[in-house]
Amino acid sequence: MDGKDRNLGLGEKWEKKGKLSPVGGLPEVRRRLNHQNQQPEDECLTPISPELANLIKQRAKELKIRKAARSWAAQVVNDFRENLLKFLKNSTDQPFFQSAEFLSSGSYFENVKIHSPDEFDMMLKLQAPSLLTMTKLDGGLFYRLDLNRPTRSPIQAFLLENQLTISSSKILNAMYELVRKFLKTYTVPDKQFCWKVNRKRPTSPAVTLSLCRIGNNTDELMSVDLVPALMVHDSQGWPQGVRDGPDVDNWLGRKGRQKIKSLPCVFVPKRLKGRKLGEDAKESWRISFSIMEKEMITKHGHTKTCCETYITKCCRKQSLMLLKSLIEALKQRFPKELEDLCSYHGKTAFLHTLSIRFSDNMWTRKQLPQCFLHLLGALEEHARSGDLPHFFVPHCNLFSASVFPRKSLAFLVNALEEQRKEGLPLLKPPALDSPLRAVSFLEETNGKQLNPKPAAQSLQFTNQLVSLVFVAALCICFIFLV
Ligand SMILES: [Zn+2]
Repeated sequence: MDGKDRNLGLGEKWEKKGKLSPVGGLPEVRRRLNHQNQQPEDECLTPISPELANLIKQRAKELKIRKAARSWAAQVVNDFRENLLKFLKNSTDQPFFQSAEFLSSGSYFENVKIHSPDEFDMMLKLQAPSLLTMTKLDGGLFYRLDLNRPTRSPIQAFLLENQLTISSSKILNAMYELVRKFLKTYTVPDKQFCWKVNRKRPTSPAVTLSLCRIGNNTDELMSVDLVPALMVHDSQGWPQGVRDGPDVDNWLGRKGRQKIKSLPCVFVPKRLKGRKLGEDAKESWRISFSIMEKEMITKHGHTKTCCETYITKCCRKQSLMLLKSLIEALKQRFPKELEDLCSYHGKTAFLHTLSIRFSDNMWTRKQLPQCFLHLLGALEEHARSGDLPHFFVPHCNLFSASVFPRKSLAFLVNALEEQRKEGLPLLKPPALDSPLRAVSFLEETNGKQLNPKPAAQSLQFTNQLVSLVFVAALCICFIFLV
């Protein structure tokens, strides 16, 4: 793992860009986007070569996580989760963490994980005891959080000298200490493995752990990003600047937007980037929309029946998986040039595309190749224009020059264009399997997991069956002729 923030919506960057639009929370930037990208429905019929269509379909099939690998990883991670929670409840070191709970978030739980389930994101919910004053430190992603009044509740241990400002660094440091202490007592159910805490990264909100084979600390089998998440009080809505919610009325309807807005917002301990930071910026919190993103990706249909049955199955999730896979492959191919690119750029382009191409009949299963190419084209267009508004905070541009250097952006535009013109050469299976796959394979061959017949065997069986039917038909014809 490259140690970057992943899938929680924490890895994206921000920039202050203009004022809030007075029109119903639909800033100018979003209206411009809608205007540019609105496509007639029959654009899905754009012909593409059968070879390219097959490559895309084949790749989508391969990206499905193998059931066996998923169950092995889920078992290991769930055991870790449950025991950590027990430890926190019983630990008197930090009473504020005693009532912590896990929020399921991140792409594994959205079921769009790429290649293998070897990266997990977990948010540990910590409840704010009372109403907070949220002071914006940028265009709407970073905040200083203050209690409305002094308190004697356990959060007191994490306040600055003024007894009101909640310190993000104190909470993150406490999380590190607690996890280290927990690991001294915890053993992985499969005793060949152990968890290690990774080195701290300056702007990361996560405690990152790696699962390693005992005696071989360099071979990481999977990793977990554990993020403490401060949840605002039930009676408190989202911060002022983002209170209208995302622009999903056409796609999910007004009710859908109300539902999203009713979900609680959480803050993660992430420092503002940059030099010569003020005290506020050093203790800043970053708003996270991962709960809302999970809701939107899970209930993604324009109609309620989308993906309810085989007939109504759509290709939205598959398109996102393919885009993430391509982003991952591009980053592997050009690690230095595309250092600033992350999967959240893909997710953001995806959400914008969904809110514009909202109709379910534009995403039917058989349209997967066209839909994926459309999505890829949308990302290329955002890169070309240097304009990718954050989906929930649209005046923060994830492709602005201050956070995504022009040189890298130009490189990205060329790389995406090349992929499109050359028939997606990077969209092929990775050369090396992840170590987790090897483990799952061992599990399967040990008889612990039953694997479906290998594809080659099934194919052989099908061929034999076809030959048999053919010979039988020939015999019948022969009998009739005679
Ligand atoms: Zn669907």
